[in-house]
Amino acid sequence: MKVHEYIAKDIFKKEGIPVPQNKMVVNPDEARAVAMEMGKPVVIKSQILVGGRGKAGGIKFADKPEEVYSKAFEILGSTVKDERVEMILIEEKLKILSEYYLSIVLDRSAKKPLIMASMSGGVDIEEVARDTPEKIVKYYLDVLDEFLPYQGREIAIKMGVPNALISKVGAVVWKLFNVFQKYDATIAEINPLVVTADGILAADAKLDIDDDSVYRQKNLAELEKVHKSEFAYVKLDGNIAVIGNGAGLTLSGMDMLKLYGGEPATFLDIGGGSSQENIAKALNIVISDLDVKTVFLNVLGGITRADDVARGVLDVLNASKRKVPLVIRLTGTNEEEGQRILKEAGVSYETSMEAAAKKAVELCKNYL
Ligand code: GDP
Ligand code: MN
Repeated sequence: MKVHEYIAKDIFKKEGIPVPQNKMVVNPDEARAVAMEMGKPVVIKSQILVGGRGKAGGIKFADKPEEVYSKAFEILGSTVKDERVEMILIEEKLKILSEYYLSIVLDRSAKKPLIMASMSGGVDIEEVARDTPEKIVKYYLDVLDEFLPYQGREIAIKMGVPNALISKVGAVVWKLFNVFQKYDATIAEINPLVVTADGILAADAKLDIDDDSVYRQKNLAELEKVHKSEFAYVKLDGNIAVIGNGAGLTLSGMDMLKLYGGEPATFLDIGGGSSQENIAKALNIVISDLDVKTVFLNVLGGITRADDVARGVLDVLNASKRKVPLVIRLTGTNEEEGQRILKEAGVSYETSMEAAAKKAVELCKNYL
């Protein structure tokens, strides 16, 4: 089980490995607030489970808090290396003097943990491994022996770390092995381990937990689940399913529906930054409910993109056997594209919530 960077960094911190000041957020408003509070230049890092984010555009820098909103907006909801970004880490930007590499992996053929460390860390460690493998120190551990702090320092010395940093780097090596062991990891990696004027910090964190051990790392599994958020969904007595992106919008949709004499069958909040898949999932939930006679999909695109919504709707209309009248209110980010997609497919839409609610009530009456 791969662990997101922000969770891995919390663990590292708890185990005494220095990490930059940071906070995970899920929307641009929060991102700006966090950056304002920090009051210094920040890095905006997409929280996805694949590496190489820097090169793929998944990491942005903002020197002023005012730049954070728009950069966070850009990165949230975008796709980086085939993964949709739903969380970002706002982290203090470090003044990097050098970048080291440190990893511990379970070497399955040797049946031993293997520590690899290098003073040539950063984004190009694969190239270092290929072109100048002598720059990477390899150190096998015997699981039956205790790994002692002096061995961490020994590795730092083999790396060629300057004298002033040997005890600091050695301590991080030792602590990272504690994490590796305590959390049943198959990989624990810091790349880069950054040297600044003030010391060393784990600027990135990678942690992969042995799938066979997840049962005894339940807290971690729970933490990872929290943000794979299912929707906020409540079934109600009426017959018009109300779906919205955001609790406030979903509630307003319900109010509007009632104003025109309709009765909500659901409160279903798909949340901000919903994907095509999420839209389809939400629609399928309500359509498979036979009490639902009409669907009122109320989307104001912010991080959620109107074209994703339109595609999600078409996915369901094309695949679903049950034909239920559907009213879509679609405005916001990428609305032209979203509306074009619907129009081309012969699906009607509204741009105002009032008009859509009214229409949903009418359609439902005719359908009954
Ligand atoms: P990865 O590309 O997914 O491995 O993401 P990293 O977190 O390792 O970031 C990639 C690169 O971005 C690092 O190797 C650094 O060169 C740079 N970077 C990351 N955080 C900072 C920071 O706080 N300050 C500066 N100046 N550069 C950073
Ligand atoms: Mn990295």
